[in-house]
Amino acid sequence: MYETLGYAARTARAPLEPQRFERRALGGADLLLEIAYCGVCHSDIHQARDEWGGATFPMVPGHEIVGTVVATGAAVKRFRAGDRAGVGCMVDACRRCASCLRGLESYCEQHVSWTYNGTEQDQKTPTQGGYSTQIVVDERFALRIRADQPLERVAPLLCAGITTWSPLRHWKVGAGSRVAVAGLGGLGHMAVKLAASLGAEVTLLSTSAGKRADAARLGAHDFVLVTDDDAMARARGRFDLVLDTVSAHHPLARYLELLRLDGTLVLVGAPDKPLEVGAFSLIPRRRSVAGSLIGGIAETQEMLDWCADHGIGADVETIPVSAVNEAYERMLRSDVRYRFVLDVASLRR
Ligand code: NAP
Ligand code: ZN
Ligand code: ZN
Repeated sequence: MYETLGYAARTARAPLEPQRFERRALGGADLLLEIAYCGVCHSDIHQARDEWGGATFPMVPGHEIVGTVVATGAAVKRFRAGDRAGVGCMVDACRRCASCLRGLESYCEQHVSWTYNGTEQDQKTPTQGGYSTQIVVDERFALRIRADQPLERVAPLLCAGITTWSPLRHWKVGAGSRVAVAGLGGLGHMAVKLAASLGAEVTLLSTSAGKRADAARLGAHDFVLVTDDDAMARARGRFDLVLDTVSAHHPLARYLELLRLDGTLVLVGAPDKPLEVGAFSLIPRRRSVAGSLIGGIAETQEMLDWCADHGIGADVETIPVSAVNEAYERMLRSDVRYRFVLDVASLRR
């Protein structure tokens, strides 16, 4: 067992505080990863505050984990001590169901072991996330990170990157596609970068007028302020895909109007309350509303390699772990440019 220091929520109303806990002993297929950085995802807030229901405490959040392998089990083949590795939103899945066999582990039909606020495959042992000094993980759920990549800029790819990459690929975004990204936060800024790198024409739909210049810098070709009725009217019927990363309740009808014939709005943002869809938002142009959950392990590696090849990393503000509660408040005000990343070395000092 490995004595580990993390930051945990003890209840849905408590701020996160230091907490000691134990990681399991190294199994044959496991890595021990010394965590260097962990991104702060809005899902961490939803879960630490039990906004989706069913949360278990104490909870050490964090699923954008990068670091260095310091020990390996006897059967580990793909990693050696000293290698860099990443861990995303899952630490295991059944590995046998139709989804797992297709490499779609986040859609496992049996049981996904979420990196935190979940359980191991025994469906009993709680999992704890990356706001902590180290993690033990099966090598099949660890990702390779090239040595020349700045680690803190890679961390957010493990959730924000794959969660936006997967739907862009599934809906076959490429040259000639017109994509709108709703919300410029952690997911949104990766969506803009990735869609642009795939050759799409990208428009940002934002509620923050002050993000216009950043949207262009990140690769967006156009910017529409969602609260500007005239600009929204001009954008009507324009997009093949709206990738909706908005974390709070929002009027879907306004965004659906922007889709052209056969266009799809994909929800990756996960507000706690249901969103309303009117029949006449969909019927006239044969539009669809869909959802997408993270992405599989092979697809995550594909995205990491794509980012390394194309010089893509997250725009990050690196903070000590002790600043995480303040970071949550800033994210709730849409005041993040564009991902907070915890410097886990600050926990060791
Ligand atoms: P974030 O960094 O906080 O960004 C969310 C953005 O949404 C904000 O920056 C803001 O952008 C926009 N927004 C906030 N409130 C809004 C409102 N009331 N109306 C319209 N826009 C609003 O969050 P994130 O980490 O990117 O996560 C986004 C969502 O995705 C969260 O709900 C998270 O749980 C979910 N998520 C889902 C998956 C999945 O697998 N499906 C994976 C990871 C995260 P502007 O200032 O540009 O308007
Ligand atoms: Zn996430
Ligand atoms: Zn499965």
